Amino acid sequence: MESKSRFRDLPSVDRLISDERIKALGEVYSHDAVVSVVRRHLDSLRLFMSRGDPCPSFAEIADTVVARLQSLGTIGPRRVINATGVILHTNLGRAPLSTDAIAAMKQASEGFNNLEIDLESGKRGSRQVHVEPLLCQLSGAEDSLVVNNNASAMLLALSALARRKEVIVSRGQAVEIGGGFRIPDVMRQSGAKLVEVGTTNCTYIADYEQAITPQTAALLRVHSSNFKVVGFTQEVAIQELVELGKRYELPVFDDLGSGCLLDTTGFGLDAEPRVQDSIAAGVGLACFSGDKLLGGPQAGIIVGRRHLIGKLKSHPLARAMRIDKVRLAALSATLIHYLKGEATDKIPIWRMIASPLSEIEGRAEQWAQAVGHLAITAAGESTVGGGSLPGSTLPTRLLIIKVPRNLRVQDLAQELRRQPLPVVGRIERNALVLDPRSVLPEEDTAVVQSLRSVFAAVG
Ligand SMILES: *Cc1c(COP(=O)(O)O)cnc(C)c1O
Repeated sequence: MESKSRFRDLPSVDRLISDERIKALGEVYSHDAVVSVVRRHLDSLRLFMSRGDPCPSFAEIADTVVARLQSLGTIGPRRVINATGVILHTNLGRAPLSTDAIAAMKQASEGFNNLEIDLESGKRGSRQVHVEPLLCQLSGAEDSLVVNNNASAMLLALSALARRKEVIVSRGQAVEIGGGFRIPDVMRQSGAKLVEVGTTNCTYIADYEQAITPQTAALLRVHSSNFKVVGFTQEVAIQELVELGKRYELPVFDDLGSGCLLDTTGFGLDAEPRVQDSIAAGVGLACFSGDKLLGGPQAGIIVGRRHLIGKLKSHPLARAMRIDKVRLAALSATLIHYLKGEATDKIPIWRMIASPLSEIEGRAEQWAQAVGHLAITAAGESTVGGGSLPGSTLPTRLLIIKVPRNLRVQDLAQELRRQPLPVVGRIERNALVLDPRSVLPEEDTAVVQSLRSVFAAVG
């Protein structure tokens, strides 16, 4: 009884839904949704009050209900501007897509499409035909399979080809990629036994050879995507691994991570291993992400020998990991840019990588004018990110914003993130730093607008 009476002050559901402001929400949201938000909020208040919290006022309760519904009604990923200087930022959605890829996604989602039907024969077909010829042409591989992401590509390859068998990997490559994706964990999930060879910094071909047993199913290479071992190091080249594999009739799996098709050294970057080089070296399978250096949608792309890919295609997990029509459309449009030799003009991340320093300098100056006396520009470095090219940078011009005395740098950064088109920067030595390299020139107007409205307020 005592606990019941404690809730006496709580308004009833009926009283709340007849409140003017909550009633007004009924114009936008369904009656059921309004009632259910009210109920759930009253439930949580009862819980807090049973722990001793006081009962809020009617106005406070109504305010919370209104705020909850309104936030539910606007939830979803929002466009932001990436001024962090990290081009492939996993937290910011990795690669933005090209205009053609976006148009292809729109077209694929507006109506029905020939996803799995052959229009000539009217018979059922495979969704893979929409990308396979492109992937084979661009990589030189015999066959391909596209799945949900690269983590699932790895899991599928190991499950289909190495379950209850051994896979040999260099100790320096049995790593965590980020976001909790650890190669040893994926191997365990697949039922493959990981056999680590060599040491963290040095692995020789003899280390692999000595570990081969009748149980060995494959030799694995994992591209060390987000770290770099410097100093005294020794890694086995992919060609050498393939030769060893040939002698023992073992396929080589190459987890390339980023899946680059272009030569990165032309942009002053280190050499990122290219997909076509892996295939030319003779790997059995190479897998990579769609949304890293390829610059396309999230996807896990597997290319390689036909008999191996065939086993992956018929494995039950392939169905559980399959790619949807919308991303498939974006992927084919992205790959066509490579076919046409226009990747650096059309694919946003490659436009960013290829952008000349002089152009970036001009843009940084323009941004600085929007801020006023608090801003200076300075030479700096951008990174590619997304598990590629660790330790390799691109020259850039940074906008460095000093923080006025009455403000904290975190608050200033937050203010920029609160703009209608949020701008995400980075904080360095108590200054807010914005890098134009990871921002497309067509977004500059929005950046300038956000900077103006923030700095008009803080002066
Ligand atoms: C990024 C990465 C993965 C995971 O790829 P997702 O597409 O994010 O699933 C796997 N392996 C390597 C080497 C990577 O760099």
